[in-house]
Amino acid sequence: MKIADFHQRLADLGAKPRHIGRIDRAWLQGWPLDTGTRHQQAQDFLPLSVREAMPQLSETVAGLARLRSEHPAADGSARLLVELGDGQMVESVLLPRDGLCVSSQVGCAVGCVFCMTGKSGLLRQLGSAEIVAQVALARRFRPVKKVVFMGMGEPAHNLDNVLEAIELLGTAGGIGHKNLVFSTVGDPRVFERLPQGPVKPALALSLHSTDAERRHWLLPRAPRIDPQELVELGEAYARQTGHPIQYQWTLLEGINDSQEEMDGILRLLKGKYAVMNLIPYNSLEADDYRRPGGERIVALVRYLHSRGVLTKVRNSAGQDIDGGCGQLRARAEQAARS
Ligand code: SF4
Repeated sequence: MKIADFHQRLADLGAKPRHIGRIDRAWLQGWPLDTGTRHQQAQDFLPLSVREAMPQLSETVAGLARLRSEHPAADGSARLLVELGDGQMVESVLLPRDGLCVSSQVGCAVGCVFCMTGKSGLLRQLGSAEIVAQVALARRFRPVKKVVFMGMGEPAHNLDNVLEAIELLGTAGGIGHKNLVFSTVGDPRVFERLPQGPVKPALALSLHSTDAERRHWLLPRAPRIDPQELVELGEAYARQTGHPIQYQWTLLEGINDSQEEMDGILRLLKGKYAVMNLIPYNSLEADDYRRPGGERIVALVRYLHSRGVLTKVRNSAGQDIDGGCGQLRARAEQAARS
């Protein structure tokens, strides 16, 4: 379901924009839908038709995203396996410091070689209401002050729904615009549409290599934008919005941790309004890829940092639970089949 469909349903029942705004605020806080409308002055009461439909509306909204299981991790994060209305499952991750990572698609078409979600291909898009429902669900457990679109799926491949969700989260959802992070492999439509929206999120770009051919091998179905052009597009957006670009770099031993790649990062990012996030790959048993050793990671960070590229090491949240994004869902699907 799209947020616009939900709003239309309320309007058809006679709800005015102020009523819809209140219902949205209650929904996105994870409260009962009629919270904030029960004890207002008579003129603010919901129309009788809306009140009568409230149990059914509440049930519809609750059914958008139900908690299937919760998996707390030692780092303070927790992976949530979330069941959608049709039984499909996605993952959300409660992050330390009141963050939440949400999914925008079931599966993903980009097929990054190091990603479990990419192995299933795209199964379906999430509606905008299903995206914000993940925030409402998470807020039943703890505050959410930051939402990153880094879960399952490529947000640029579901752009209308993701932008509709961002607009609601940045208004009725009460989340600061720089605390909404749109994460993408890079797509020309993103750079056209994001600057036009009323809520301009921060941008994370998955770079992973500065070599166009290697990047194409790692992200086989990402749009073929040259890394240098991608950085130039990112820089223009960062300057326009005042939010630095967060570059994502999954560190794979022997693949993109070479001196040549580090010098490529310096060439592209030195002097840019950017942060480089090195994310050591989360190795699994019987896996083709490995993370570099700890000393090597420290040396890479020092090398970049000391030469003027702000660099951080980010571990993927909750990696002691079940590895990277998509693995909980894959396991649940496997269990359902066996
Ligand atoms: Fe899709 Fe992101 Fe996985 Fe790549 S890393 S396959 S873009 S979900």
